[in-house]
Amino acid sequence: MKNLDDLLSEGVSGRRVLVRADLNVPLDGETITDDGRVRASLPTIQKLAEAGAQVVVTAHLGRPKGAPDPQFSLAPVARRLGELLGTEVALAGDLVGESAKSTVAGLSDGQVAVLENVRFDARETSKDDAEREALAAELAALVGEDAAFVSDGFGVVHRKQASVYDVARKLPNYAGGLVLAEVEVLRTLTGDPQRPYVVVLGGSKVSDKLGVIKALLPKVDKLVIGGGMAYTFLAAQGHDVGTSLLQEDQIDNTKQLLADAGDKLVLPVDVVAADRFAADAEPQVVEADAIPSDLMGLDIGPRSRELFAETLATASTVFWNGPAGVFEFPAFAEGTKAVAQAIVDGDAFSVVGGGDSAAAVRTLGLPEDGFSHISTGGGASLEFLEGKDLPGVTVLEGRS
Ligand code: ADP
Ligand code: MG
Repeated sequence: MKNLDDLLSEGVSGRRVLVRADLNVPLDGETITDDGRVRASLPTIQKLAEAGAQVVVTAHLGRPKGAPDPQFSLAPVARRLGELLGTEVALAGDLVGESAKSTVAGLSDGQVAVLENVRFDARETSKDDAEREALAAELAALVGEDAAFVSDGFGVVHRKQASVYDVARKLPNYAGGLVLAEVEVLRTLTGDPQRPYVVVLGGSKVSDKLGVIKALLPKVDKLVIGGGMAYTFLAAQGHDVGTSLLQEDQIDNTKQLLADAGDKLVLPVDVVAADRFAADAEPQVVEADAIPSDLMGLDIGPRSRELFAETLATASTVFWNGPAGVFEFPAFAEGTKAVAQAIVDGDAFSVVGGGDSAAAVRTLGLPEDGFSHISTGGGASLEFLEGKDLPGVTVLEGRS
């Protein structure tokens, strides 16, 4: 896999470089509520611009239906990118049309432009290879001969999409700093991590994480389960979980996991419950094996916070994915905070994966530098840990 440094040493001054970035930020109207992904994308864009490249950024935002939709315009993102770079960043009004062509033609060396949302074009995510390839050819033609492609959107490398996979086959391709760093970090987790190796999983659904639990179980020393998925585990142990989030159809799978995991598994011993899913619901601490039938567990309880923190304190390597509770409601954020704080307080090599977990670190006010690595790719990091091939990585490795 060639990387950004290889490209920089080949020389980029006066060359156009197409960068696939992950700029899929949460928006409230036109306001970016968490600009983490924009900031994470800066180093690669900045290095290319400083080396005199004409940088053309392509990215998606949200889930538009394959056609232009102003609500998913990258305009707020281009603005924020410009603020952070301290320079003007032009936004093309389309992806490969007239506006994109004139925007790209107008770039001077060292300047940056953003193409409008790549998912405004239905071919981006098409299952039809020919359709995706046609879009990739147009993207390659837009930047012209002698151009290079830098893949820096780790959050999308598990997708076989035109701007991620197909375009990498049409231009000389390089892994951006972000993709390279993510792949290196995740390889240490699947390779030979320092022990004890503790994995904390949370979030909403067991079904989303079943694959990763199965893949990690043989490798870890402790597997700590919190969040909504803990209730399917508690139910599989035969406990009543009240109105908590429960995936009945996963109980059999979960029973098998319980049997396989043995004493590696750490489950909540108490939970913070409420009578409804609401920020202003009254929190009550109850035993994990005695959740009243009219209550739902929305966070791990105080004894579980201690148990999780003690387990984390023993670790030399930590991977954390998925909030321990509904951290979006302050009354149910203590469990997630305790997990994050225990990682910050420890000196293990620590990796946070998952969009919501990374957002929790930032919104709960924890120091980002308290973690060795905060992954920008939720689904991608989980698929990597599951041992799946990521199309956007294999293509850079020349394997597809
Ligand atoms: P990530 O994006 O980090 O992989 P997920 O998307 O799997 O995490 O899960 C995040 C969501 O899980 C959060 O929105 C959080 O509110 C929710 N969640 C956590 N604990 C619970 C719970 N006890 N009941 C319902 N939802 C929960
Ligand atoms: Mg999520």
